Amino acid sequence: MAGSISRRDVIGGIAAGAWAGIGFGRAFGQARPRVVVVGAGAGGASVARQLAQAAAGGIEIVLVDPKDAFTTCFHSNLYLGGIRDFGSITHDHRGLGTLGIEHVRQAATAIDRDRRTVRLADGAVLQYDHLVLAPGIDILFDRIEGYSPEAARIMPHAWQGGEQTLLLHDQLHALEDGALVVMVSPPEPYRCPPGPYERASMMAHVLKTREHRRSRIIILDAKESFSKQALFQEGWERHYPGMIEWQDPLMHGGIGAVDAATLTVATGLADYAADLVNVIPPQAAGVIARDAGLADASGYCPVRAESMRSTMDERITLVGDATVAGDMPKSAYSANSQARVAASAILAELAGGQEVEPTYFNTCWSLIAPEDAVKVGGRYVAQEGRITAIETFVSQPGEDARTRRRTQAENMGWYEGIIETVFGAT
Ligand SMILES: Cc1cc2nc3c(=O)[nH]c(=O)nc-3n(C[C@H](O)[C@H](O)[C@H](O)COP(=O)(O)OP(=O)(O)OC[C@H]3O[C@@H](n4cnc5c(N)ncnc54)[C@H](O)[C@@H]3O)c2cc1C
Repeated sequence: MAGSISRRDVIGGIAAGAWAGIGFGRAFGQARPRVVVVGAGAGGASVARQLAQAAAGGIEIVLVDPKDAFTTCFHSNLYLGGIRDFGSITHDHRGLGTLGIEHVRQAATAIDRDRRTVRLADGAVLQYDHLVLAPGIDILFDRIEGYSPEAARIMPHAWQGGEQTLLLHDQLHALEDGALVVMVSPPEPYRCPPGPYERASMMAHVLKTREHRRSRIIILDAKESFSKQALFQEGWERHYPGMIEWQDPLMHGGIGAVDAATLTVATGLADYAADLVNVIPPQAAGVIARDAGLADASGYCPVRAESMRSTMDERITLVGDATVAGDMPKSAYSANSQARVAASAILAELAGGQEVEPTYFNTCWSLIAPEDAVKVGGRYVAQEGRITAIETFVSQPGEDARTRRRTQAENMGWYEGIIETVFGAT
């Protein structure tokens, strides 16, 4: 374990007003350049706030997202587990207005890269000098036979925050002893690598708290191994013996199809008739980025490691889950760290200045049981055009209870800090 990353790393950013008084318009022959940011989640809202704070009015910032309130996927597993309430993971965007960011509550429907415009759902067209895309992920419904947006109302994925999170929570809390929960876990690359296993832990915690003796959780995984596997499996043995069973593709023979009418999951070797099915399908970058021709064959968007600029368009920056970001996992922590690098590079471009060598950070905490949290993370730099880990750390099996409690305290502190930097409020 090489060390850890402090809350300060995520909260720190470009100094407020650092670029105030700079002639941003010069390079564009106009008074104030306009940066349009599509997506007001962990990545997009962070870029908007970083730019607004540093430029102190020197840039016009338009943030496009149809949502009035944002329910974070991060800590949504803690909500499922009864550790947090729904209100505490739902945030409005009021903190953005105080910095002069204009929030347009529309979906972006098309990007014209030649004209440098973004079309909105109501038909309006926004011109940009620089565009930031942070649309997160889309669920690839058609990759699992029988799954669809309609089927997700019965077998939720809950991999995008909001209604789906509420649905899965209500289904979980209505289960009776003897229930079978089946989770279908996705192939790489996907949002939040340890997320499915933290979710299984929190589901087991609920069943244990309700004194279920016979209920079981089966995870049918598309992968042969998973993030923090030894830590999760040790924790499951300790807290929920016999309750969680993980199967790799060799064990289940491949995910076949799901059927919402019968709550059944068919695999190559068996059919499972369940009481709750949580299907987490394969994912790709939000469609607005893919339709703009910014994704590669992976379905995600390659970026320059020094700046988070698209490798396909100099006037477009991407951050967050939509990107191919080298060794960085798709997490809110990563998105926020990328946003700081992105904002710094955009400020340098608009003011005609020098880009600086970036450093990126990530930590992913996972809660196995109340007060028993583990973490994995790293520090990353641009090396030969790729975001590369130069320092990593991970919790160890067999750690004492005090260490795990402290790790959970860090996790809760991190959440408060990131909400403050992303949305400007708690
Ligand atoms: C169960 C679960 C647990 C997780 N736990 C953690 C954790 O503990 N720590 C952690 O760091 N990360 C965690 N994550 C991952 C984290 O939620 C994501 O990595 C993070 O939200 C990515 O940020 P983003 O900005 O790329 O996307 P998002 O935060 O999803 O934001 C995307 C925004 O773009 C908007 N948008 C999309 N398309 C358009 C469009 N066409 N026009 C306008 N707006 C658009 C959406 O409305 C949304 O507001 C977890 C995820 C899950 C599912």
